[in-house]
Amino acid sequence: MIISRNDYIERLSGYRREIYVKGEKIENFVEHPNIRPAINAIAFTYDLAAQKEEYSPFSELVHQKVNRLNYVNRTPEDLIARLDYQRELSMRTGTCHYRCPGADAICSLYPTTKALDQRLDTDYHQKFLAFLKEIQSKDYACTGALTDTKGDRSKRPKEARDMYVHVVEKSDAGIVVSGAKIHQSGAFAADVNFVLPTQTFKQGEEEFAIAFAVTPEDEGVKFILQSTGYQAKFREGGSFEPGNFKYGDRLTCTVIFDNVFIPWDRVFVFEDLEANRHLLTGFAVSHRCAGAACKAGFMDSMIGAASLMLKANGLEKVAALKQKIGEMVGISEAAYGIAIGAATKGYEDWGVYQPNTLIANAGKVIGVDGLNKVIMNLAEIAGGIPVTAPSEFDLKNPEIGALVEKYLSANPEFTTEERLKIIKFIEFWVTSSHLLGGIHGGGSPAASIIFLQILADIKSKEEAVKEALGLK
Ligand SMILES: Cc1cc2nc3c(=O)[nH]c(=O)nc-3n(C[C@H](O)[C@H](O)[C@H](O)COP(=O)(O)OP(=O)(O)OC[C@H]3O[C@@H](n4cnc5c(N)ncnc54)[C@H](O)[C@@H]3O)c2cc1C
Repeated sequence: MIISRNDYIERLSGYRREIYVKGEKIENFVEHPNIRPAINAIAFTYDLAAQKEEYSPFSELVHQKVNRLNYVNRTPEDLIARLDYQRELSMRTGTCHYRCPGADAICSLYPTTKALDQRLDTDYHQKFLAFLKEIQSKDYACTGALTDTKGDRSKRPKEARDMYVHVVEKSDAGIVVSGAKIHQSGAFAADVNFVLPTQTFKQGEEEFAIAFAVTPEDEGVKFILQSTGYQAKFREGGSFEPGNFKYGDRLTCTVIFDNVFIPWDRVFVFEDLEANRHLLTGFAVSHRCAGAACKAGFMDSMIGAASLMLKANGLEKVAALKQKIGEMVGISEAAYGIAIGAATKGYEDWGVYQPNTLIANAGKVIGVDGLNKVIMNLAEIAGGIPVTAPSEFDLKNPEIGALVEKYLSANPEFTTEERLKIIKFIEFWVTSSHLLGGIHGGGSPAASIIFLQILADIKSKEEAVKEALGLK
C-alpha cells in the first residue's frame, strides 16, 4: 500500500517514544522544532511515491503497490529506479530522507535469512517475509541501525561488551538486548528500526552477531537527539533563518537499548558469524551504491543554490564562476554515473539483485571527494556572506531592518529577503552536518578502500603493464 504524508504523520503521532533533546525529555515529538524537519523529509518520500509510478512498484509479496524503498530489488532496473528516487529526494529536500538504510536492511536481510535457513534448516526467512509483508502493506518508514558506540577501539567487543549491542537473555519467547547505537539517522521518526551488527565478529563473539527489528511498542528504547549549532538555530525559530527550514539538517540520534525484549518473530540473525558477514557485505554494497546517487542529489541542490546566488549577486555572466558550476555538474553526474554503473554490473544474491561491489565502493570514495569539491565551489561562488550575514530577525527589526534591507540588497530582481534566504541555504550547505555525513555515513572512506584493495584485480593490471613493457 502507498499511504499519504498525513497518514504517516498521524500514525507517528500515536507512538509513545522516549526522546531527549538538549537534556530534556520531550512531549509531542512530532511538533518539536528539532524533530519536525526530519518528519517533513520522510513525509516527502510519501509524496513522491504517490506522484511517480516508478517509485511505487507492484510487490508480488503483498499483491499491491509498495514504496520503492520497501521493495526487494530483483533486476538492474529495480535498482536504477531506487537510485533515481534517492537522487530526486536528496535534490528536492536538500537533506537525508532517512529511509535508505531501511531499504538496504531489507535487501540484505532477504538473502541472508534465505542462505541461513538453507544452511541450518531454520525458519528465519519465513519470519522475515512475514514482517516484510507487514512493512509493505502498511507502508512503514524503516531505518537501519548498525554503528555501535564501540568505546576504546583498540579492544575486542568482549573486552568492551556494553559498548556493543548484545544478547543479555534468551527465552522461548525471544531475546533481551542491551547496548547503544550511535549516529542513527532519523530513527525517532520511523515506524521500524532494523538493528544490524556493526562489524564482522570472530569465534567467541557470537553474542554480538545479531539482527532484529525494533517497533514502537518495544519498551526500554531511548532516543537522544544530536546537538549541534543547527539544532540551536531551529529552536531559535524564525521563518527561514535555519537555511533548510522545511527539511532540516541531517538529523541523527543515539539509540539506547535498555534491556529491550525482542520476540523471536523479529529476530532475523541470532549469534551466527557467517550470516553476520553475509548481511554486512550486502548492506554495505547496497548502501554505498545508493549513497553515490544520493550525493549526486545533494550536489544538484548545491548547483541550484550556486546558480541562484550568482543571479542574486548579479554575477551570472562571469565566465570563471559559471565554469565552477559546470565543474559541479560534471561531479554530480559522475557520482550518479558510478551508482548506475554499479547497478548495471551487479550480481544476484539469493533472489536479490545487488550492485557491483567494486564499483559501489568506488562510488563511496569518489562521492566523498566530489561532495567536498562541490561544497568548495559553492563556497567560492557565494563569497563570504553565508557565514557573516545578519539574521532574518535583524531584517525584520523595526530599528535596523531598513538598513539591513538596503545594505544586503544586490540584483534588484531579488528582494533582500529572497537573497538572504539563498544565503542562509548556502550557509546550511557549507556548515551543517552534511560534509561529515557524506564522509562517514555508510562507513568511512577507509572501510571502502579496504574493500577496493581486497577486491581489485591488481595482478591483471600489473600483467598488462609487464606485457606492454616487455617485462618478465
Ligand atoms: C550524519 C551521519 C549519519 C549517519 N547515519 C547512520 C545510520 O543511519 N545508521 C548507522 O548505523 N550509522 C550511521 N552513521 C555512522 C557511520 O556509519 C559511522 O560514522 C562510520 O561507520 C564511522 O564510524 P565512527 O563515526 O564511529 O568512527 P570511529 O569509530 O570513531 O572512527 C574514527 C575514524 O577512525 C577510523 N578507524 C576506526 N577504527 C579503526 C581501525 N581499527 N583501523 C583503522 N581505522 C579505524 C574510522 O574509519 C574513522 O575514519 C552516520 C554517520 C554520520 C556522520
